[in-house]
Amino acid sequence: MSVFSRPDFDNHEAVHFHADPDTGLKAIIAIHNRNLGPALGGMRMWPYSDDTAALDDVLRLSKGMTYKAAMAGLDYGGGKAVIIGDSRTDKTDALVRAMGHFVQTLEGRYHTAEDVGMTVADMDLMRTVTPYAHGLSDSTGNPSPATAWGVFVGMKAAAKHRLGTDEVKGLRVAVQGLGSVGQVLCEYLSEAGARLTVADIDADRVRHCQETFGATAVATDDIHRAEADVFAPCALGAGLNDATIPELRAAVVAGSANNQLAEVRHGTMLARRRILYAPDYVINAGGLIDIACEGPDYSEDKVMTRVDAIGPTLARIFERAQAEEATPETIADRMAEERFLHGMDLAA
Ligand code: NAD
Repeated sequence: MSVFSRPDFDNHEAVHFHADPDTGLKAIIAIHNRNLGPALGGMRMWPYSDDTAALDDVLRLSKGMTYKAAMAGLDYGGGKAVIIGDSRTDKTDALVRAMGHFVQTLEGRYHTAEDVGMTVADMDLMRTVTPYAHGLSDSTGNPSPATAWGVFVGMKAAAKHRLGTDEVKGLRVAVQGLGSVGQVLCEYLSEAGARLTVADIDADRVRHCQETFGATAVATDDIHRAEADVFAPCALGAGLNDATIPELRAAVVAGSANNQLAEVRHGTMLARRRILYAPDYVINAGGLIDIACEGPDYSEDKVMTRVDAIGPTLARIFERAQAEEATPETIADRMAEERFLHGMDLAA
């Protein structure tokens, strides 16, 4: 298996492989770029079909983290770790500790946090062997409120650009997915007077939003075509595709889900319909900012103030997209590269 010839290899700074026969650990840590600071990115445990699938995932995800940290204004680079295995059956305390030792061998070049298959408790355990494990139970354990706040301020910036007002009172928002982020987002929107339409495959979560926020419930197949000003995808990725885009009624798409565009061309499809898309990795960076702020002087207020910057960053992306006749996600990538490759200021 060659790393350099994989399609997702993007001149990554380093790719580290590690096996520990005593615990069954097989893992890869990829460091994409450290121009802005140590590489930061979550750790994923997944039963990959083979080693190449794990390698491709870690290459792609670590690159994404470089762009995300750069656009969040953080002095961190991009990295990611994957453990090959099923977190429900293969994860033991010994394996988690062994993974912590692997992180420690990189001496701070890579900082980790939880991702799919890894929990706050795993990070607590890992912290006993390395100071480079974050997202701990005694500080930033749950990054979702910060993510939801970033989506809230980002949505206002998008509404201002596309609808001419950032007044949330009366704004009609269709929220897809009422999990850790979606539910808190509904709370922020409801407090500010938005009118909510919601959908989730979990009926209890839908009922909670109906009872608590006076939301209107629709079927999961209908939420993207709800009569709304804003569509907020907060469930799974690839929700913006050939089937859903022609049916969207909202003028703005602004939500937390990762990889919302099924393919790159779907960004162009949205733009042709004059639907303003807030690039996912920019608007959902609140959780990453939360984790990056971890430390002895951590405060929720300080985090939220930093997350507020997502609004002005998106406003600049939308203005440039308009001026340069490009899609917002193309401009976001360009601005990220200007920062991590050429040292330019985000506000420049
Ligand atoms: P979650 O698992 O807590 O919630 C997801 C919700 O979506 C669940 O309630 C689930 O029932 C629902 N859902 C699944 N399929 C659905 C469908 N077809 N239609 C409607 N609802 C459906 O996840 P989360 O932490 O709230 O994250 C939501 C999204 O935001 C994910 O894509 C995640 O990767 C992304 N994200 C989350 C964070 C964070 O801080 N939690 C940060 C960045 C990005």
